[in-house]
Amino acid sequence: MNSKNLGLNTICTHVGEVEDKQFKGAISPLYMSSSYAFEDVEVKRYPRYFNTPNQQALCKKIAMLEKSENALIFGSGMAAVSTTMLALLHKGDHVVLPQTLYGGTYNFVVEEFHKFGIEYSFAEGFSEADFAEKIQSNTKVIFVETPSNPLMRITDLEMIARLAKNHGLVSMIDNTFATPINQTPADYGIDIMIHSATKYMGGHSDICAGAVAASEEHIKTIWNLAKNLGGSLSDYAVWLLERSMKTMAIRVKAQNKNAKKVAKWLEKHALVNKVYYPGLKTHPEYAIAKKQMRGYTGMLSFEINESYDVQGFLRSLQMIKPSMSLAGVESTILSPAKTSHGLLSPEDRIKQNISDGLLRLSVGIEDIEDIKADLEQAFKAILKLKK
Ligand SMILES: *Cc1c(COP(=O)(O)O)cnc(C)c1O
Repeated sequence: MNSKNLGLNTICTHVGEVEDKQFKGAISPLYMSSSYAFEDVEVKRYPRYFNTPNQQALCKKIAMLEKSENALIFGSGMAAVSTTMLALLHKGDHVVLPQTLYGGTYNFVVEEFHKFGIEYSFAEGFSEADFAEKIQSNTKVIFVETPSNPLMRITDLEMIARLAKNHGLVSMIDNTFATPINQTPADYGIDIMIHSATKYMGGHSDICAGAVAASEEHIKTIWNLAKNLGGSLSDYAVWLLERSMKTMAIRVKAQNKNAKKVAKWLEKHALVNKVYYPGLKTHPEYAIAKKQMRGYTGMLSFEINESYDVQGFLRSLQMIKPSMSLAGVESTILSPAKTSHGLLSPEDRIKQNISDGLLRLSVGIEDIEDIKADLEQAFKAILKLKK
């Protein structure tokens, strides 16, 4: 198959697959071996070396989706984030990150970096000036997350790549929320793309995995540390993830479409103060989102007027389950103030606009009328509840 200029659906379905030469089966055979005879001394296949047939098959798919030379699969998104950062940052180095970071990444930075002698600064906003003012003489990496969690703020990827280039920094993005279906950061010059594959790549809330895509040179640097830290993914989960990714493009597009409809509907709802979705014209970075995204994801947040019982709203939902993770085919919801951002002080939460009325909704692939009906019956229920 000529792999130049393939469409996203075709890459998801086919690229990288291991040919079943023996039985001509339609899908990649699963190789569970943890021991492989030497082909020659240069090729030592071993799961923790990230080079089993199934690991390599999936890496080809992810690398092509991210328009990168190569990729690595990890046992979790945090294994991918931590290994990549530690591979590129050494003692005495400094990294600039956004203030609103995925909770696990934030904890990793503030709890672990001091042990390695790595310095960091948080950019307070999303503009060029916010990031530029934090760059120091020892800065080596600039890390972004766009859209951000949970307020879906957008960072201009072209601006970040330019800033990185001008200062000789490596640029990294956590591309989990957007997915390579909606956003290709390499098109704007971002160096390293990181994913929690637990989310849209897996998409069925049954796999915990991570991925990194980058140039051959960066992947080699990350691999050198990865094999020592040992955060590889079991081949069975790798094979399941390959299966999941075959439908990623159609799933994500369906979720984009549902989320946009829910966002527009919520925006007009009497009990909703505010909706945060980059596909809405009212979003502060709508123009940047439109420039760099093909779709606006299945993630959105909205704020219920705090005079109503927000926890009662969550309890009243029948189909949409309050839960920690996101991006599955089923719609889920959570209260950031009570969960992902629960450890922040009330002052810090106010500073970050995470009110008690804020809810983050991960829109699934259910029929749009059923999603709206479940939300509407929960709104009706809190109208009756006295706080
Ligand atoms: C979930 C998530 C992670 C961490 O991934 P795990 O698979 O849970 O380790 C990192 N970044 C973002 C944006 C996430 O949503």
